[in-house]
Amino acid sequence: MIEEVLPNLFRMEIPLPESPLKSINSYVIKASRRNLIIDTGMNREECRNAMQTGLRKLGVDIRKTDFFITHLHADHLELVSNLAADNSKIYFNQPDADKIKSGILWDDFVNFLRLNGFPENELQAALHSHPGFKFRSTEQLTFHILKESDTISIGEYVFKCVGTPGHTWGHMCLYEPNKKIFVAGDHILNDITPTIQLYSGEWNPLKEYLKSLDKVHELDIELVLPGHRSVFRHCKERIQELKHHHQKRLGEIITILKKGRKNAFQVASHMSWDIIYDSWDLFPAFQKWFATGEAISHLKYLEEKGIVRREIQRHNITFSLNLNYIV
Ligand SMILES: [Zn+2]
Repeated sequence: MIEEVLPNLFRMEIPLPESPLKSINSYVIKASRRNLIIDTGMNREECRNAMQTGLRKLGVDIRKTDFFITHLHADHLELVSNLAADNSKIYFNQPDADKIKSGILWDDFVNFLRLNGFPENELQAALHSHPGFKFRSTEQLTFHILKESDTISIGEYVFKCVGTPGHTWGHMCLYEPNKKIFVAGDHILNDITPTIQLYSGEWNPLKEYLKSLDKVHELDIELVLPGHRSVFRHCKERIQELKHHHQKRLGEIITILKKGRKNAFQVASHMSWDIIYDSWDLFPAFQKWFATGEAISHLKYLEEKGIVRREIQRHNITFSLNLNYIV
């Protein structure tokens, strides 16, 4: 599916088989000198075919094309390794590039989830069905790093980089102040909620995410071009909804912990999930992985706020409500 969103700016839907996301938006901006493709798809046949068909229809010469990738997730990044020509620049942010360089530490993620109560017999199944692990690329990409407020000029569009950490360490969006369009990656989506997950103790992604939402709220935006699903207009309202969603989530976790100390896996199993499976036990292993990562990011936020206490006992991390916290 190709839609001309604005003059010379096209949205291509690249299918994501087996994913509840269904597809990813790849944006193609055509210009006489160099074209730009924003986000790509996974490095798998279905994505490659859809991308090649779309680019052929649009008459895009890949040797005259550069790439901007909003963040390191496999559905946005990995196909670029298959597409980029020798002379293509791949624009990317430093924090996510550092993570790729140091190797996404899957063993560390597994160990961290184990500490957080993820059952041993489901861990390997979860890892091996995780799309990020399954479709990880071994190819070393050379990135052209962009920083906050750097600009990319493509034809009539001048995009400004807006760092929006939270969904990943260095997630970066593009803002076109004259046309008032915002390329949102997975920072702001319309009919689905971007996931905020944590698999280490090193940072507080939900805090960063909420800060990034406030930052984008300040911008004058008429049209949002998200990483998944349709483009939409009501950016400020959507930001308020997303903030409200996370406040509700935090409240839900407090209610769960009122019933007693729990590990993050147990917390996740008691949370409500917008998913087709009837019960937690029926969730596929990698969905439990995502859910536990989501629970951990919210627990970390509550811990830094002093609302929740984390206790580490031998090989077990558990959480309880801080007794000094009065509801
Ligand atoms: Zn993502």
